[in-house]
This record gives sequence, C-alpha cells and structure tokens, in this order.
Amino acid sequence: MEQTFNKSEVVLVGLSEIERRSWKQKYPLLEPITDLEPTLWLNSNIKEEQHIPELPLTKEDMYEAEELWKRFAPFLKKAFSEVEETSGFIESPLKSIDKLKPVLENYYDFNIDGKLYLKSDNELPIAGSIKARGGFYEVLHYAEKLAIENGLITYDGNYELFLSEKFRSFFQQYSIGVGSTGNLGLSIGIMSATLGFNVSVYMSADAKQWKKDLLREKGANVVEFSGDFSEAIYAGREETLADPNGYFVDDESSKHLFLGYSVAALRLKKQLEKMNIKVDANNPLFLYLPCGVGGSPGGITFGMKQLFGDHIHCFFVEPTHSPSVLIGLLTGEKDQISVQDFGIDNRTEADGLAVGRPSSFATSISEHLISGIYTVEDDELYTMLTMLADNENIYVEPSATAGLLGPKYVLESAYIEKHDINTNNATHIAWSTGGDLVPDIDMKQFYEKGKSFLA
Ligand SMILES: *Cc1c(COP(=O)(O)O)cnc(C)c1O
Repeated sequence: MEQTFNKSEVVLVGLSEIERRSWKQKYPLLEPITDLEPTLWLNSNIKEEQHIPELPLTKEDMYEAEELWKRFAPFLKKAFSEVEETSGFIESPLKSIDKLKPVLENYYDFNIDGKLYLKSDNELPIAGSIKARGGFYEVLHYAEKLAIENGLITYDGNYELFLSEKFRSFFQQYSIGVGSTGNLGLSIGIMSATLGFNVSVYMSADAKQWKKDLLREKGANVVEFSGDFSEAIYAGREETLADPNGYFVDDESSKHLFLGYSVAALRLKKQLEKMNIKVDANNPLFLYLPCGVGGSPGGITFGMKQLFGDHIHCFFVEPTHSPSVLIGLLTGEKDQISVQDFGIDNRTEADGLAVGRPSSFATSISEHLISGIYTVEDDELYTMLTMLADNENIYVEPSATAGLLGPKYVLESAYIEKHDINTNNATHIAWSTGGDLVPDIDMKQFYEKGKSFLA
C-alpha cells in the first residue's frame, strides 16, 4: 500500500538547544540520560497508599476485566489449541531463577537480598508476549460490545458462538487498526482475524520481518512504514478512523489495553499465595517491568498497588536509546515531550521498547504509583539473554531481559533507606515480556550475540 501521509506532519521537530539547556538545568539527570548513560531515576511524586489521588480507573474495573476473560474462556479454548488444556485460560508461570541469580551477581558485581523470580510472559500462549494481556483484551472487549449492542449475545450466553459463521460475517463489516513496533500488532492481528474483523497493522521500521510474515499468514493487512512508532500510530489512526466502522487500538492512550494488563495482578496474587510467597511490610515485593509506551508496566503496577499497596515497589526499565516514559515523568510533560525532542534517536534492538513518546493515559496513572525508572544498554540485554539461556534454559527476546538488572540498581540506591525498607526477605520479580514466537534462527542470533559479550 502507498504511504499517503505527509511526513512533515508527523516528524518530531525537537527542542532548540536553548530549550534543552534550560530543561537540563532544571533536571540535571537529563544530562546522563541524553548522553545515553544507564541511569536510575527515583520518582519523588510517588504517593503513599492513602494519599493517592482519584485515578481514572478503580479496583472494580480490574475485577470486571477479569470477568470478561472468564466469559470468553470457552471461545478461546475452542479457537486456540494452545489453551485447550487450560480451559481457555491465558496465563504464564512465575519461576524461581536460582541458578541465574549467582551468575548475575557475579558478572554485574552486586548482591541480591532476597529471592529472584521470573514472571514468564514470554510463554504466554498464542501471542508469545505480554501483549496477549492488553491486546487480546481490547479486541475481545470491542467484539463483545458490538455483539451485545446488536443483540447477538447476552453476557451469560454461550461465547463459543463468537466462532460461528454468523458472528464472523457480522464482524466482517468492521475494521480494526493498530500501530505497532511488532508484538502489539501480532496480538491484535491474531485475535481480530480469528473473530473475522478486517484488521490492518501499521508497523514501524524496527518491526521484525517474521512478525510481518506471520501476520499476513494469519490474514491481517500489514502496512509498513520507514519511520518510527509514532509515525505508524499517526498514520494508522487517521486511516482507520476514516472508516465509519473503524476502530483504532491506540497504544498512546488506550484505557482498555491498560485494564487488560492490570488483570495480571489478580493472577500474580494467586500465584504468590500458591507458592507461599508473602507480601507485607517485612516481605516487600519489587517488580521490574520493561517499558515501551508504559501501558503494560503501568497496568500491572496499577493492579498490584490496588492489591498490595505500599508493600509493592514497581520500577520500569527502558533502553538508554528510548527513555520516553522516563523523560515524560521526570519533566512532568508526559506525552507532550519525546526522546527526539532531546536529540535521542530511539534506536534499540529491544523492539518492544522502541518508543519515543509515552502513553498519555498510562503515564497519568503511573506518575503517582511507580517507584522509579532505570535504563539499560542493548548489549546488556543480549548478555542477560544468553545467561538466562545457559543457566535456566529459558529463551526470551532481548526486551524481556531488561528487568533482571533491577535489583542491582535499586538495592544500591537511596530508595531503600528513604522508604526504610527491610530487604532481607525481599522478593524480586523480573517481568519477562516476550519471546516464544521468535523464530529459532533469530533466537540463535540473539544468543550468539550475547555469547560474544560473555567471552
Ligand atoms: C510491548 C512490550 C513491552 C512494553 O509494553 P508497553 O505497554 O509498550 O509499555 C515490553 N516488552 C515487550 C516484549 C513488549 O512487546
């Protein structure tokens, strides 16, 4: 398809040298950030539980979102063999990574007080990434809304009907669009095509070829862009909304994606209970969440804070070349500012995190809830990928390893003392966000690259 959008409309102009200098004077941390140095930022706007202002979502919204998943379970079970055994339930395991822990500590020269776990969303069925939570949820939510409004189903009806010819031909009248660096497009494309929607995925230059191929195979229309994620989103939004029956999944502002992610908290709580992992004042829980637009880490943080309050400490992690949420929250400008404004190129091999501008919806919530953000270099992502493979036999994509460095940054920082946290019995969970669909040949390249750094 021809690209019909005038590039000058979407190219980000950037701040003048004088403006940049004035921002840096106000926030000196911008200096190492723009120099692309790994940096830890602690959020001074974090609010204690009883002081959190009213948020645009509630705990009840999260429980309602979980109900939607339950209603669709029979449909999912029938549509996807991957979740037949789990009765249509899409969830990932929480794994202890005791063998990796000493290797990490030794290589990066630090000590992890407490235990280290991996929340293995790289294994999430069907989409192979954390986008199975937000992306699938938003498509299912939209499909349900249309079906209810048009009298095709009731909330207590048989949701296997969503696979029927009648439903499919109904959904064929509607189109869904999404802008994506890759994984979101995969999740939206797969679920939309399964339901019969006309789905178009607008992909940025850094999206991998195999993701485009897989989407086309599933029946999605793939529109490729030479520019970055913001450009793909901009164009996708315009084109999708030009169709009166068009629905755009907007990663830069979506409430539904956010809610879909938040349900992970309810699931994780159950897993923690099952594994006898306590969370209270003497047993703090640290979460390290790879961050792109901030939707998935924001939704999970929101959910966990609703359930555990001040005993949860959530840190986001971004590539040194794409610190969009970091700059947005540090300056307070949120989605009004981008990494390009500061001359940062947004070029990273962590394609799931290659985002130059944060989500407005997610950051407006995260600003009160997250403990901080740190950045990592791409080379470390590969190094940890190979370490994880060698020591735990777990294979993930580069983005997904970013959380593993969390304890190094956080335990040595002023955060622990400032909040008077007893870390002896701490639990650290690095959220592993993707990997299962990566073709073997690509995974081998990732692995070899990390191996070369370890040599
Ligand atoms: C999308 C994605 C993230 C980050 O999620 P956001 O909602 O963009 O912040 C992290 N890791 C992987 C593998 C992803 O695909």
